[in-house]
This record gives sequence, C-alpha cells and structure tokens, in this order.
Amino acid sequence: QSAAPVRTRFAPSPTGYLHLGGARTALFSWAFARHHKGVFVLRIEDTDLERSTPEAVQAILDGMAWLEMTPDEGPFYQMQRMDRYREVLAELLEKGHAYHCYSSPEEVEAMRERARALGLKPRYDGTWRPEPGKTLPPVPEGRKPVIRFRNPTDGATTWNDMVKGPIRFDNSELDDLIIARPDGTPTYNFCVVVDDWDMKITHVIRGDDHVNNTPRQINILRALGATPPEYGHVPMILGPDGEKLSKRHGAVSVVEYDKDGYLPEAMINYLARLGWSHGNDELFTREQLVEWFDVRNLSKSAAQWDPKKLNWVNAHY
Ligand code: GLU
Repeated sequence: QSAAPVRTRFAPSPTGYLHLGGARTALFSWAFARHHKGVFVLRIEDTDLERSTPEAVQAILDGMAWLEMTPDEGPFYQMQRMDRYREVLAELLEKGHAYHCYSSPEEVEAMRERARALGLKPRYDGTWRPEPGKTLPPVPEGRKPVIRFRNPTDGATTWNDMVKGPIRFDNSELDDLIIARPDGTPTYNFCVVVDDWDMKITHVIRGDDHVNNTPRQINILRALGATPPEYGHVPMILGPDGEKLSKRHGAVSVVEYDKDGYLPEAMINYLARLGWSHGNDELFTREQLVEWFDVRNLSKSAAQWDPKKLNWVNAHY
C-alpha cells in the first residue's frame, strides 16, 4: 500500500443518462475517497463523438448533484486533453514502446482468420512490429497508419483486484493494442491510461466490464514509467431475469427517481447495499456509509436489482 493520498475517479462516458449502475460505481469511488480523506475526481469520457451528447453530460452532473457526490476535482473533459494525448503518443513512439502499423483493416481481419484457423486466439500478427534485425515491409502508398502499443510478449500481467482478488493475464494473450487511429486520434484505453496517470489516481473503482482492459492499461502505464493504481472491479447490477439491468426492467435515469419523489439518501442506502452488506440492516446516514464502506467487502458476484427493496428503503427513510 502506497502512502500517497488516496485519489479515486468516476469516469462516465456521456452516451446516455446516469443509470443506477453508473451511480453505484460513482458512489463507491466517492465513498472510498471520503473514507480515506482523499480526493474524488470526475472525468467525462466524451471522445466518442457520435454517441456523446451535452444532454447526457448534464444528466450525469444532475444525477451526481442530486446524490451529493460532489467531485473535489473536475469535471475534466477528455476532448479538451487531446494535445496531451498526442504528446504521450509521441513519447511512446520515440521510446520504441509503440509503432506505426500500416496493415489495413482487411489485412488484420485476414490475420485473425489465419489465427482462428490454427485454433489460436484471433490476433494481429506483428507484421509492423519492429524487432532487432527485422526488415519492415515497404509502406503502402497513401495509407495512413494506426499506432499500436508494443505489448510485452512474455510473462504475465497480474494485479490483486480489490473486489475480485488476484487476476492474471498471460501477455502472449494480449494483442498489440491500437492506441491511435489513422486520423491520429487516440483510442479509448489510451486516454484512460494518460488520464489516470496525469490525475494521479491511486484507486480505480469501475465496472467489471473493464476487467479485460486492465492488463493492457497496466502495460502501457509501465511503459510510461508509471506505477499502476490499485483496481477494484465492481460486478454489475442484474435485472430480475439475470440480464444486465436496463430500461427494460423499469430502471431509469437517476434524476427520474428524483422527480418520482425518491429521497437521495434512500437511493444512496439502496445502491450501497447492492452487493455490500454491513452487519446491521438499519438505514444509515451518509457519514456512516463513509465510515463503514470498504470496496474490499463488496460481493464478487453480480447484484440483483429489487425495486421493492428500494421502495421499502424510501418509505422508511
Ligand atoms: N468511460 C467508461 C464507462 O463509462 C469507464 C472507464 C473507466 O472507469 O475506466 O464505461
């Protein structure tokens, strides 16, 4: 455990309203930071221009304000940090941790097909990956390259997940990740890495749909000479039918619950209890949550949404 002050972040993509799953992860990051007298950062991951909207940004800010999860720093917007991402891309290229890859999407698909045919995991075959003594193919005329991260090929990437325990990925299983597109724009995983590094995040608490990204992010951080943060991957919330909770199950935007007369404290109690039990079953205050909460006590398995329980909490608050 490092002695650095605890810094957590909530990093939503503004592609829709703040849903219950997002609010719950935000709550865990917020409570963890508060518990450790640390800093809670809000970062808006708005690089998906087709799906990000200002309305969604506003819905996220409104939802967080309603639940009084006030960030100590931010909101930071990734679209405003493009120059910084380009700078770090250039640094990785210069140090040989990244390279230009001129393979076309069709060629990459053919490589994957070949790997599949051999019973291997579909992957980029390293055509453009520089190796000592290797001659690279001639650059196809007029083709713009992507930038790939030169992932280590031996050993394994491991971390002790705060929620899930030890996790291990063989590096040979990880592809050389594309970190910039042909138009030079950085890709999602790369922006996250640069931000977590620059924002000195010590504990990343996020949904477990990101577990597969983590070894890639750790390897890029190491190439940059950074110490990776601790990670805690929170299992998602499931609807009564065992599918990922969505509108279909009647779950709506956090701000809609405000309009429907739910109390923010009731929502916080309900969300905190989803997948986390703290001995006594009474309703607790925000201060008690901060005092008791530890992401390490979260259940490893998915939580089940229960509107009756939410209504009960709301009625008794
Ligand atoms: N922007 C991502 C999402 O909304 C979260 C990324 C992260 O927490 O690392 O799913």
